[in-house]
Amino acid sequence: MSGEGTEPQAIRKLKPGKLVIASHNAGKVREIGALLEGYGLEVISAASLDLPEPEETGTTFVMNAELKARAAADLSGLPALADDSGLCVDALGGDPGIFSARWGGPDKDFGHAMRLVEDKLGETPDAPRDAHFICALALAWPDGHVEWFEGRVDGTLVWPPRGLKGHGYDPVFQPVGLTTTFGEMDEPAKNEISHRGDAFRQMVAAVF
Ligand code: IMP
Repeated sequence: MSGEGTEPQAIRKLKPGKLVIASHNAGKVREIGALLEGYGLEVISAASLDLPEPEETGTTFVMNAELKARAAADLSGLPALADDSGLCVDALGGDPGIFSARWGGPDKDFGHAMRLVEDKLGETPDAPRDAHFICALALAWPDGHVEWFEGRVDGTLVWPPRGLKGHGYDPVFQPVGLTTTFGEMDEPAKNEISHRGDAFRQMVAAVF
C-alpha cells in the first residue's frame, strides 16, 4: 500500500521511546494506548502537545492518516502515529466513509449521525444493511519516512442503537457472526475483531 503516490519503502522498525498519537479524539487515543501497551513506548497525545488538527483534505483513509501523521511528526520532531477511520455503508455507496466524523456535525453528535445513516437507509427499505469499518494507520518519522497499514471489520447495521460502551457508530454496528453490537462489547473484546485491532496487528508484526 502507498499514500499520495509515494513508492512503498522498506519497513522501518519503531524503537522504544516517545510516540505521538496524532488524534484529538479521546476515545481513539484511549483505544490506541491500550493496543500499544507492552512495546516500550511512551504514548503522548497530540492534544497534550497542543498540536493543531490539520484539515483532512485526502480522498482516502490512507491519505488522511498520512497527512495527520506527517504534520504531527514535523511539528513534534518525534515519530507520530495517526489513524483515519470510518464507517462505510454498502447501500449508501460507502458513505459516510471518510466523512464519518463530519456526519456528527460541529458538536460531534453521533446520536445524530447514526440517525442520519438510518434515515438514508430508510429511503430504500429493502436495501441490504451491510457495512464495514475501515482503519488506516500511518506511522511517520520526522525525516519523512512513512509506513501504512489498513484494517477492516464487516458487519450489519442495527436499529435502534444498542449499548453504551465504545464511541462513534459503535451502538449500531453488529460484527458478522455476533449478536452484540460494538457498543455492547468491552474494549478488549472489540479490539480482538475490530478494524483498528486488525490494522494494529499488521503494524505490530511489521514494525516491532
Ligand atoms: P477520523 O478518523 O478522526 O476522521 O474519524 C473517524 C470517525 O469514524 C469517528 O469519529 C467515528 O465516528 C467513526 N469511527 C471510526 N472508528 C470507529 C469505531 O471503532 N467505532 C465507532 N465509530 C468509529
